[in-house]
Amino acid sequence: MEKPPLEKIFGPTGWLARHHPRFEYRPGQLEMAENVESALENGQHLIVEAGTGTGKTLAYLAPLIRSGQRVVISTGTKNLQEQLFYKDIPFLKKLFPRLRATLMKGRQNYLCRQKLYDLEKQPVLNGLEEVSLYSQLREWETRTETGDRVELKNLPDTSELWSRIDARRETCTGQKCKQFERCFITWMHQRAAESNLIIVNHHLFFADLALKETDFASLLPDYSAVVFDEAHEIEDVATQYFGLKISNYKIEELARDTEATLKIKGLDSAEVFGAVRELRRRADLFFELFPATEGRSNFDNRASFLEVNRGTYSALVNALVRIETELLRVKDRPEEINNLARRAEETRQALETILESRDRNYVYWWERRGRGIFLEASPIDVSPILREKLFGQVRTVILTSATLSVLNRFDFVKRRLGVEMAREKILQSHFDFGRQALLYTPIHLPDPREPEYSSRAASEVIALLKITRGRAFVLFTSYQQMRAVYERVRAHTRYPLILQGTAPRTALLDKFRSTPHAVLFATSSFWQGVDVQGQQLSAVIIDRLPFAVPTDPVVAARIRQINEDGGNAFTEYQIPEAVIALKQGFGRLIRSENDRGVLAILDRRMVQKQYGRIFFGSLPSYRCTQRLEEVDAFMQECL
Ligand code: SF4
Repeated sequence: MEKPPLEKIFGPTGWLARHHPRFEYRPGQLEMAENVESALENGQHLIVEAGTGTGKTLAYLAPLIRSGQRVVISTGTKNLQEQLFYKDIPFLKKLFPRLRATLMKGRQNYLCRQKLYDLEKQPVLNGLEEVSLYSQLREWETRTETGDRVELKNLPDTSELWSRIDARRETCTGQKCKQFERCFITWMHQRAAESNLIIVNHHLFFADLALKETDFASLLPDYSAVVFDEAHEIEDVATQYFGLKISNYKIEELARDTEATLKIKGLDSAEVFGAVRELRRRADLFFELFPATEGRSNFDNRASFLEVNRGTYSALVNALVRIETELLRVKDRPEEINNLARRAEETRQALETILESRDRNYVYWWERRGRGIFLEASPIDVSPILREKLFGQVRTVILTSATLSVLNRFDFVKRRLGVEMAREKILQSHFDFGRQALLYTPIHLPDPREPEYSSRAASEVIALLKITRGRAFVLFTSYQQMRAVYERVRAHTRYPLILQGTAPRTALLDKFRSTPHAVLFATSSFWQGVDVQGQQLSAVIIDRLPFAVPTDPVVAARIRQINEDGGNAFTEYQIPEAVIALKQGFGRLIRSENDRGVLAILDRRMVQKQYGRIFFGSLPSYRCTQRLEEVDAFMQECL
């Protein structure tokens, strides 16, 4: 049957005009919907940049539903997932009453019934609080339909008890489990298989894609199309999941789960307990070999590291072999024990690969975060993997975001992700950026790499805050710079300052929204996905062009690889990546037609270097100035 034109939904007198409380006709929204529909019908991939305010969510949802295909939508965050599932989809159900959608989160969000029952038989509960929480969970388990922890309003984010009863893959015995038929994961899988739309986030999507080949435990049923919203994030997420990682925490978790399983199953194996003790001892000795320096370091010196520390390393490998062997010797062992043996084997293989592999497509590195030491092997270039496993397998892949293009082209994102053939579309926002925002690029400050930069940048921030009366995000590319400028500004301003790291992210944002004239000092995690509308946010000040840190092991390996292949990493990788990050950061300011304010970048290179024009040419058409008086005059108009 012929579908009615999309104009009937998105047009000036269409369905949305009649049903959406804040409808405005946006030609860009209709155009995006037509492109999505056409890509789905013709089995093409599509890259579409849709500026803020285009209404892109409805623009892809409606054609997806009309296609009748099973489609996965992958979002950047859990929040966005929930907004789609609880707001946009129920709204569209009025138009498409037969629509079925499933929200899927990572397995750790769901209860494992079997583990919950096991705890009752052999309670290993710590203190009265856990005993009371356990009985609440028992009662909840009998009535919840999803097993999703989000329903438990009183459960602390970092509940230790929850981590012992969640449905994580490593501890699941799958079809051999007695609860398999009524398992929340099985139910979720069944619901997804009966749905047209499956809403996931990038982490779940790529964890699933990386598993697909090797594991029966893939959560997603077959699908013919996938939409990535906030698609500018997927290179990073794919890098995480197509790599290998082990840590002292992972090994401790294996030791702890082994002991708990033996207790719960009533298995008193002195050999396994002995192997666990040995594993802990060997792991402690091995991880102590890494220096106390916080942060990421490359592991290019693996050969010499092994030469010096071969004994300690081999002892850890042997301890993992021993625990696997002892677990497999347990008589009449339940499936949980086989599972633990498999984990020991996987951990050993990951450790050996990270320490010994010579695969040049991977970069090997380690990181210390507090008491955690993480050893990783990351793919330097994910494009061949994605070309094969994603773009070569799925009929239609749609990449969308407000920030995908550089100088109005998608070459960068296509190259990084391995997209060969795709429809391409850039839809301008309908905001009047020339009237709504002023971009201030002072050139009297020293280069950000000069030592006196911090104090001069702090003075500039103070002057700007005076003009905007606080109400600003001051965003940095490094913690160190953030703290240095914050300390200087604090002594000279009367506006309430909020510093990242002093409370969780959502609490900081709530505080910013509810405190008049507040100023937030923050780094990368606030550059995207933050939405503050109205005068409360009147300025976004960025300290320097957001080039990725070239000493980061993954970034350094990418730069090296591009240069060795005859390319120019600065123009092909570092600049375009920084352009997209800057567009994201500045994108925080204008979130609605009524927003107005100032954008400032305190980096003279934007004006003085040749490559600065790539940044200017890629940003929306903001009005520009290098004079503080003009900023003052502009803000007077706004207030
Ligand atoms: S199938 Fe796995 S997750 Fe589900 S109840 Fe059994 S062990 Fe737990």
